[in-house]
Order: sequence, then structure tokens, then C-alpha cells
Amino acid sequence: MSQCICREIPAYDRIGSRSELDFYLDLVYRLAREKVIEITMDIGDNIDYAHIEMFCKHCGRKLKLVCEAYHGAGGYIGSRKYDKKRPKRKKT
Ligand SMILES: [Zn+2]
Repeated sequence: MSQCICREIPAYDRIGSRSELDFYLDLVYRLAREKVIEITMDIGDNIDYAHIEMFCKHCGRKLKLVCEAYHGAGGYIGSRKYDKKRPKRKKT
């Protein structure tokens, strides 16, 4: 399988902290500026909540970043096919 340049975005990665969220926001917006991906929906304010849906313009891979930042509850970035499969948070 050939690797697309969108591979900088992992297939699935949990986002568990503000710094991880900032890292991925920077990555997403940079790839959008470089026209690797196209953002189709950005309804988060990126302060309390981030919700970005996008796809790769080269391979068509559908991607999503969802993260509640305010409570530090975290979220995930990855292929949109993991949307319904993502593991539930364990109660500690
Ligand atoms: Zn791609």
C-alpha cells in the first residue's frame, strides 16, 4: 500500500491533553494550508472544543478531529471510520 502524504495524521490517536490538541491543530491547519487536506467542517472554537472534519485531497481519506479541551476530557484524531468504533473512556 502506498503511503499518502496525509499519513502525518495517524489512523487513530487519542488526544489527552491541551498540548496534544495544539499539536494536532497545528498539523491539521498546516496540511490544509499546504492543500494536502480540505477542511469540510470546523465547528469548534479550538479553545473549549475542537471539531474538524476533513478529507485528503490526494487519497480521499476521510478524517476527523474531535476534542473537548476545556475539561481536559480529550478526544481523538483519525480516520472517520473509527468514529463509532472508538473505545469508551474507562472510569477511574
Ligand atoms: Zn491521503
